[in-house]
Amino acid sequence: MVKKVLKFGGTSVGSIDRIQHVAKIIEKEHKNGNQVIVVVSAMSGKTNELLNLSQKISNNFSKRELDVLLSSGEQITSALLAGALINLNVKAKSYLNWQIPIITEGEHTNARIINIKTNEINEYLKKKGVAIIPGFQGISTNGDITTIGRGGSDASAVALAKIFKTDFCEIYTDVDGVFSSDPKKIPIAKKIDKISFDEMLELSSLGAKVMQSSAVQTAMIYDIPLEVKSTFTNREGTKIFGQDNIDYTKSVTGVAYSKDDAKITLIGVEDKPGVAANIFEPLNESQVNVDMVIQNISSDSRTTDVTFTIKRDDLLKTKDIFKKNNNINFEKITYNDNVAKLSIVGAGMVTTPGVTYKMFRALADEKINILAISTSEIKLSVIINEENILNAVKKLHTVFDLD
Ligand code: ADP
Ligand code: ASP
Ligand code: MG
Repeated sequence: MVKKVLKFGGTSVGSIDRIQHVAKIIEKEHKNGNQVIVVVSAMSGKTNELLNLSQKISNNFSKRELDVLLSSGEQITSALLAGALINLNVKAKSYLNWQIPIITEGEHTNARIINIKTNEINEYLKKKGVAIIPGFQGISTNGDITTIGRGGSDASAVALAKIFKTDFCEIYTDVDGVFSSDPKKIPIAKKIDKISFDEMLELSSLGAKVMQSSAVQTAMIYDIPLEVKSTFTNREGTKIFGQDNIDYTKSVTGVAYSKDDAKITLIGVEDKPGVAANIFEPLNESQVNVDMVIQNISSDSRTTDVTFTIKRDDLLKTKDIFKKNNNINFEKITYNDNVAKLSIVGAGMVTTPGVTYKMFRALADEKINILAISTSEIKLSVIINEENILNAVKKLHTVFDLD
């Protein structure tokens, strides 16, 4: 007997047929004598549909009420799946966040799970019941419903695996595992059999939405191995675990991209101590995260141009800050939100010389201009024009032997 968390994403529970198919997967685990905790997402598209409804009322819809609204998607799939299992004569029960409870802290729409009560569910598992739990949500210490960020059912699954000390945490989704790039956009992408937590964390933070990055982070901190696999095929998935077991023969493991950045350039900023601090301090105060920064000295050596990138969602806020702040003197400001971030990730990058050069040469061959660069030990990211992104991903995929 083993104890497992099985998480099913939105497409996996996207229709009644699919829910019935998922019920059969669970039935098999149950028949094998395993204790099973199931985490479900809302049906695919449901969370966006609910979000759109709230925006029809107001762009500034109450965040408390938004959490009540958004969490309903997962409530629906929990009940449907529990019902489907009962129909197959499998003992099953849905538990809502407040019934368990799953306690969170932090602001509405972006809370974090801090504790989960286990007694009742553990008793139920011992009595051969399957517990079905809605992902993506919890309750605050005040008793308000909270959600834990988009894609958050992954984080729910990892938190449950940790707190219930399960032997496995399996993430069922609509692709066969983690690929060298998004297999829906880059059909030549290859499935990765094993990947380290560090690499997966970089890939998911840089745009590979197959795993939510905060879920990977928790799994890494508490050393909870994960397996990403398909709901619809029986193929082996991808194992995500600690670094000791990883093969470093490949310099680059994957290519990720995202379109949620914006680039800002302040032209003709006075070049003297304290200027950078003056620029970035108000951004920090308004919780605008700055990602890449580049500073160029102008030909007169008295002024400088500062370019930096932020999340595209923060662009309006940032424009406002520069409009209102008199502490920062510059000649002109330009904004570009038609940019994309392209990244290569690989634990073997540190030990392989020439990766940087190879990436830049490949982009140059495609006549793609690099607008900003940032590096770490296991990743290299560049900002380029959005229109070039798929072409660039394909090119890097080939150049780094990932096809
Ligand atoms: P779920 O609803 O199961 O959580 P998601 O839509 O959140 O599924 O994540 C799965 C999707 O992630 C895939 O359909 C795929 O298009 C996308 N994806 C992006 N990058 C990758 C990658 N490197 N490997 C696998 N899938 C990826
Ligand atoms: N339903 C939520 C979302 O769409 C959570 C999830 O699917 O993981 O973001
Ligand atoms: Mg997801």
